[in-house]
Order: sequence, then C-alpha cells, then structure tokens
Amino acid sequence: MSVAQLTPREIAQAIRNVPDFPKAGVQFKDITPVLADSRLFAGTVELLTSHFQPGEVDAVVGIDARGFIFAAAAAMRLRAGFVPVRKQGKLPCQTLEQEYALEYGRATVAIHADALQPGSRVLLVDDLLATGGTAAAAAALVGRLGGTILEAAFVIELTFLEGRAKLPGLPIHSLVTY
Ligand code: AMP
Repeated sequence: MSVAQLTPREIAQAIRNVPDFPKAGVQFKDITPVLADSRLFAGTVELLTSHFQPGEVDAVVGIDARGFIFAAAAAMRLRAGFVPVRKQGKLPCQTLEQEYALEYGRATVAIHADALQPGSRVLLVDDLLATGGTAAAAAALVGRLGGTILEAAFVIELTFLEGRAKLPGLPIHSLVTY
C-alpha cells in the first residue's frame, strides 16, 4: 500500500471535533476516524516517522493511552522498541514517577525503572500536545533514565495552549495544528 500522497490536510479533515467532551468547554479532537481508515492510519505513522531511518531510534516512548496506538506503530516502522509511559498505578514492576500540573489538580505518570538503557535514543509520541504538561512529565522520566529524546512527535498540536513552552530545547514535530 502506498501512502506517499497523504497530506496532513487529509488527516485534519478526518479528525472529529467533539464540543464539550469530556467536560464543558473542551473541544475534544477525536482521532478514531483516522485509525479506522487504513490509508490514513498508515500515512499518519509514516508522516510521524519518515525523517528517521530504521536503526536511528532505539525506543519509541508512547504516552497513555491514545499515544500508545501511534507509538507502537511507529516503533514497528522504525524497528525500535516500544516503551509505555502510563498513568500511576498501572505498571507492575519498579517504576519512576513524575507528577505534573493539570488545569485543576495534579496527575502522575510512570515508567518502568528498567525500560530504557542509559544513552537510549528516544522518539516520544503522543496523539495530541495541549498544555504540554503530560509530554513534559514523560520527557522528564526519559531523562531520569538517561535516555536522549531525539524528538517529540504529535499527530495534533493545539498551538494556542503553548505546550511547546514546556518542552524547551526539544525538537517538536506535529502534523495537524489548531
Ligand atoms: P496536555 O498535558 O495538556 O498537553 O494534554 C495532553 C494529553 O491530554 C494528551 O495525552 C491528549 O490525549 C489529551 N488531550 C488534551 N486535550 C485534548 C483535546 N482537546 N482532545 C483530545 N485529547 C486531548
């Protein structure tokens, strides 16, 4: 299957905006129509990863939960391992945890303590960059394990929330921006 002609515009057209989900005031970006279309799904993963060659990335770190979908596919394409950053309490072995601020309150993400080798070259992947708190916490976990993030890649970036500011010095690649 060739996905060479896929453009970010086609991905954008498939993303469904759901007002007031999961709570009033949020414009939820639903990526399930992208996943359900084989050309769009494959093309999205291709666009996320095409500037890397297999062998250049040791691990794709995906963020719970929609990030896992794209990160696992990216890992397969790059012949890299897949490492999950999960919400607190989900990983069964010894973990490192990182707390971060939400709009209201705080949240914690975790990674297995043995998930990365020091010096691992990491591609960090999530479906969407909003305020950047989640990605920054995940990036901090990678750093604490001695990994080097080559890039943080997102299918969607909500630029008006300025999430990039929480990822200083990190190359950021996003396909569809609002
Ligand atoms: P943030 O920490 O604010 O950058 O939020 C990013 C995380 O929350 C990602 O894992 C997204 O899946 C999710 N998220 C935040 N805002 C939205 C939105 N408007 N639509 C869909 N997912 C969102």
